[in-house]
Amino acid sequence: MSVIVLVEHTGGIIKKKNFEAVQYAAQIAKQMGSTVTAVVLGNVADAEMESLGEYGAQKVLHVADSRLDELHARAYTSALVAAAQKESSKVIVTLHDIKGRMVAPRVAVTLKAGLVAGALSYPDMEKGFVIKKAVFSGKAFAYVNILSDVKVIMLMPNTFPVGKVEGKAVVEKQEVSFGDKDFGVKVKAVNKVTGAVPLADADLVVSGGRGMKGPENWGILEDLAKELGAATACSRPVADAHWRPHHEHVGQTGGTVRPNLYIAVGISGAIQHLAGVNGSKTIVVINKDPEAPFFKAANYGVVGDAMEILPRLTAAIKKFKEHHK
Ligand SMILES: Cc1cc2nc3c(=O)[nH]c(=O)nc-3n(C[C@H](O)[C@H](O)[C@H](O)COP(=O)(O)OP(=O)(O)OC[C@H]3O[C@@H](n4cnc5c(N)ncnc54)[C@H](O)[C@@H]3O)c2cc1C
Repeated sequence: MSVIVLVEHTGGIIKKKNFEAVQYAAQIAKQMGSTVTAVVLGNVADAEMESLGEYGAQKVLHVADSRLDELHARAYTSALVAAAQKESSKVIVTLHDIKGRMVAPRVAVTLKAGLVAGALSYPDMEKGFVIKKAVFSGKAFAYVNILSDVKVIMLMPNTFPVGKVEGKAVVEKQEVSFGDKDFGVKVKAVNKVTGAVPLADADLVVSGGRGMKGPENWGILEDLAKELGAATACSRPVADAHWRPHHEHVGQTGGTVRPNLYIAVGISGAIQHLAGVNGSKTIVVINKDPEAPFFKAANYGVVGDAMEILPRLTAAIKKFKEHHK
């Protein structure tokens, strides 16, 4: 009756957002008087998997088929379903990210399970199995009760702080008999996004809008991002004008980010933009127009010209870091 959680890795390294998912599954398991079994697919060292015990997993089911180092949604689904059946699981957790979005709905269909995507809370078991999620581009919340016997939850990354506990998970090898269709999609090439910090996993994001005036001014924004160790993002018109690559575009029609800090520079704060960033823990807005709508969504605001403020902010952060070495 374990709670199952899909743990992703990149080249054998398990990243922080997965620890949050394991911890989330552990909290649910505790409420249910159950345990957590993490499912790891592809080549990962035992020590890396054992460390999932520090986030509350008792066991890891490891499907060590190297074809799973790449995302094959059907094969991932088969592996997760096999693990859920082996553990007689009633609750399956994934992240609400690219892999989770490709796998969790397939798992839910296979297991005839109800699914909540973009979960923002633990299930309230006193009211049934009620989970909070954002709807209408983050303008409202819905409280969804999953009524089916088996339940699938896709946790929105960066919803809960991650803390360690004492523990070491036991790693067990799991054989899965894959069918031809499981690997029916062939990955011909992988174009890795180059850039200091990948946007999807970033804790800090510096984002620019049309107020940056043109691509030639992005150097000062990148200097700030570099000093902070932040990823860079942009508004849609900026990507449409090819000032920045499309994978940096955030908002309703772009990526969704939920960093601890989102610095918006020269972005007006249209609802379509906010839809992709309003889950950020702290929002700082730099805009020369004090009436810019983004200020209403901001925790901190600076009214002024980005061309003057960005270099000064970068210099101040540099100085701060030197004093606190
Ligand atoms: C269906 C639909 C989907 C959309 N999806 C998205 C989406 O996913 N993401 C997205 O971003 N947009 C999206 N949009 C577009 C959105 O409505 C806005 O038009 C867009 O976000 C505006 O981008 P911006 O803030 O960069 O530009 P602008 O609205 O032109 O704002 C520029 C801002 O920069 C400020 N500024 C100017 N000069 C300076 C300076 N020197 N220093 C400081 N500040 C300065 C101005 O005061 C202004 O507030 C969508 C629109 C539609 C209709």
